[in-house]
Amino acid sequence: MSNIWNLAHPWLRDLVAYEPGKPIEDVARELGLEPSQIIKLASNENPLGPSPKALEAMHATLERSHFYPDGGGFYLREAIAEKMELKRENVILGCGSNEIIEFIGHAFLKPGDEIVTSHHAFVVYKLMAKLFGATTVEVPDPGFAHDLEAMADAITSKTREVFIANPNNPTGTLVSQEEIDRFMKRVPEHVVVVFDEAYHEFLDNPPDTLKFIREGRNVVVLRTFSKIQGLANLRIGYGLAKPDLIEALQKTRQPFNANGIAQAGALAGLKDEEHQLKTRQITHEGRAVMQSAFKQMGLQFVPSYANFVLVKVGDGKAVFQQLMRQGIIVRDMTAYGLPEWIRVSVGTAPQNERFLTALQDCVTQPA
Ligand SMILES: *Cc1c(COP(=O)(O)O)cnc(C)c1O
Repeated sequence: MSNIWNLAHPWLRDLVAYEPGKPIEDVARELGLEPSQIIKLASNENPLGPSPKALEAMHATLERSHFYPDGGGFYLREAIAEKMELKRENVILGCGSNEIIEFIGHAFLKPGDEIVTSHHAFVVYKLMAKLFGATTVEVPDPGFAHDLEAMADAITSKTREVFIANPNNPTGTLVSQEEIDRFMKRVPEHVVVVFDEAYHEFLDNPPDTLKFIREGRNVVVLRTFSKIQGLANLRIGYGLAKPDLIEALQKTRQPFNANGIAQAGALAGLKDEEHQLKTRQITHEGRAVMQSAFKQMGLQFVPSYANFVLVKVGDGKAVFQQLMRQGIIVRDMTAYGLPEWIRVSVGTAPQNERFLTALQDCVTQPA
């Protein structure tokens, strides 16, 4: 029988698929628990759920499910552009912002090219580079933070893309405006810089990267409705860039990549400032509670700018499993080369408390 690897791209052979947070349904089925007893703090989702206004808009759109969506995403792109003080031509929609990472690969990567990113950066950049036969250069990250000077040093004539996750997932670290500005002065014309800002809305003083778009630089800023907006299930995110760059990305997408229910929910959610404010507030409070509890337990953690915290628990996989048996799902960090750590999303106050009590038991009486 013929071997499929004589036919498929050889670089796909060692591409390891992305491992998502464990779904509540899986844990319920495997452990015989009620789904309602399980809390998921594994994927940085909004514990308050979607905005009620988004829900209402989506219900209305459900009735129109027999129509194809507006593939051009007119109203949502207009609303995003208005909020960002840009034009609709500066905006592209994606089936999650993850899909836009793929568009950028389609547009700029071929076998033998390089991308530059940080060690412990969001793993999807590396997976997408591999999909296109490109090589990922991972720059060391002292103290788990992106080292932008070293990342600029790593750029070669083969570099096509640089990915900066800000704040980064899974470390929760942030690079400052000053570091970004210094970095951008060193980036040559042949490189596209991607600022992945999935957690932007949780920041008190977010760095301004949209100015590079206004200046005409080769920059893509990625944002999402999956995190503060609580619409992860809908798969909708967006990219911002100068019009000709967006035009190149538009050519790489499927005609109806962003579905109409998602577009309607995102449009209503975008305008619901109150829901975002409330989410920010409970996130900031919950994160402070978690971080001070880790300190009390004597656990090392990385101070976070996002809605999750990376904490060193010893045997990450064992703690992940011990917590799961009690119906608490967190993220095991083995895939990031951090087997002693777990990543936990900030939940509601009762969820955080339940997690912290269970974690205390794990630390004092390991299974
Ligand atoms: C969650 C996350 C995203 C968002 O992905 P979607 O596809 O929009 O759900 C993107 N980048 C990073 C770093 C993230 O953590």
